[in-house]
Amino acid sequence: MSSKQPEHEIVLRGIGGSPGICIGKAYLVDKGGVDVVRKYRLAADKLEAEMNRFKEAVQKAKDELHNILADTPEELRDHARILESHLILLKDKMLYGRTIEIIEKEQVNADWALKKTVDRLRNMFESMSDPYLKARAVDIVHVSERIMDHLTGDERIDIGKIEKRVILVASDLTPAETSQIQLEWIMGFVTARGGRTSHTSIIARSLQIPAVLGIENATKIIHNDDIIIVDGTAGVVVVNPSEKTLLDASNKMSLYEARRARMARESRVVAETTDGVRLEVMGNIELPEEVVSVIDYGGDGIGLYRTEFQYLARKSFPSEDEMYEKYKDVVDVMPDKPVTIRTLDINGDKALAYTNGEYEANPALGLRAIRYCLRKPEVFKTQLRAIMRAAVYGNVRILVPMISCLEEIIATRQLLEEAAASLEKDGVEFNPDLPLGLMIEVPSTVIMADRFAREVDFFSIGTNDLIQYSMAIDRGNRLVAHLYSHLKPPVLKLLDMVCQAAHANHIPVYMCGEMASDPLCTPFLIGLGIRELSMNPGSIPVVKKIIRRLDSRQARAFKNMLLEQGSAEEVESMIRKEYGDMLDEIIDNGKEAGVI
Ligand code: PEP
Ligand code: MG
Repeated sequence: MSSKQPEHEIVLRGIGGSPGICIGKAYLVDKGGVDVVRKYRLAADKLEAEMNRFKEAVQKAKDELHNILADTPEELRDHARILESHLILLKDKMLYGRTIEIIEKEQVNADWALKKTVDRLRNMFESMSDPYLKARAVDIVHVSERIMDHLTGDERIDIGKIEKRVILVASDLTPAETSQIQLEWIMGFVTARGGRTSHTSIIARSLQIPAVLGIENATKIIHNDDIIIVDGTAGVVVVNPSEKTLLDASNKMSLYEARRARMARESRVVAETTDGVRLEVMGNIELPEEVVSVIDYGGDGIGLYRTEFQYLARKSFPSEDEMYEKYKDVVDVMPDKPVTIRTLDINGDKALAYTNGEYEANPALGLRAIRYCLRKPEVFKTQLRAIMRAAVYGNVRILVPMISCLEEIIATRQLLEEAAASLEKDGVEFNPDLPLGLMIEVPSTVIMADRFAREVDFFSIGTNDLIQYSMAIDRGNRLVAHLYSHLKPPVLKLLDMVCQAAHANHIPVYMCGEMASDPLCTPFLIGLGIRELSMNPGSIPVVKKIIRRLDSRQARAFKNMLLEQGSAEEVESMIRKEYGDMLDEIIDNGKEAGVI
């Protein structure tokens, strides 16, 4: 009998998704399709339940396909035919029957039995010479992934049940899964996929949870309960660290914490330029729990509350009361400060499991955000009612995403009035006088900004999408990520147009896209006359510090010079020449403190 070998220290390098260091035990959420399934044996009396689990997963996959088919428009008949063939495959003896047989005969878990069946079928079809039959291998994989999703769906529910302090290790986490986790138990994140703009990163950063992403094979190399160190600043994970590595890491951790606390303390001051212009530096949040970080980092309010997370990871739309409670939670924590609640921005990259089904070749250009809400006025009105009710307790604004034409804002106002009238009728307490703002994310709103400014109370610029739609760069596509920059001259010119229109019409213009947190951009944004910047909470201290070192009149003149430049490189070198030393000093400080 061999005793357990001493484990060797393994150093893995990935992308730093959220700064800071933590040391703890790994908790594996291993679900990356059929290829990462583990095998385990089951006692004879557990087999029936396991077969039923598989049958239920097949049934759910079948229901899902039926729903999708019912919503597929006529012009997508070809797509529908593929789905119909998937429906048939679901009950195919070779797939369904064989998996049941393996569970029973080999006494193994359903996931493993499915994987074994699929591997065999895939090999069989791929080795066929007929191209049509060969191509069936792809359908087999797709069908099995759909079943697997439902099988591992149970595991996803487990994510919500974690009740010990752990470091979560997963192949990937969807926004739906992230929103299920009780984040107070999570010390750190390690994932195989995802980048700095993934939702895991965004949430981890705002909750100050260290995260390292992009560690291929993370779920294969790291085992449950392994001791690991996650250094989100360096983008490094150490598995089974030696005593010396552990000691070094805990020293580094204490240093970080002391610096971070100092930075947060210093951030309680107002963000005022050297010539006395006051800016509000606000926090972006996705979950109510994140408000605490905004306060810790000295935020002046919530500039963007992305509400879609409450709609994810569930089987049906949240009720008005549920939403009201969540919004009120946020408002109660900061009753005197602005809380900007953005209405549902669904589809695009975040789809609802219980309502999708309409096939969209280009989701980013499809039935997203306000377009979706206007298609489903009852869903929209429920949210508007919840917002107006929560607004009784504080300083709430409504922000509408993805507006591309005037009719959409007019229809929104109409629905707001209807929602208010229905609340009145129901005798429920609400606040009807909320500032209504629109997100500037689509170039058509920039072109018409002058007209839009007469319809709303404020603008908030969403640069993440504005850059995507104006530069034709898919914000989630790695292959074109090198083209994506906040400093591209066309982007700067668009922002200048928006600000001029807002100033001319005397409405405030805010920014809540990632550009607001980019230290290199702060002088330009002040020069534009933007007086409220909203960002990931961790970035607040650094941006506040920069603001306090700038003169707004000088920034305005500098902005005009930047607008003359022809490339992002030229813009950047001009910024560095003028402000480089000051920016480097503050950024280095922020890095040492582990906030950026
Ligand atoms: C944006 O597009 O800049 C924005 C803030 O919205 P989101 O990132 O949620 O699309
Ligand atoms: Mg957006």
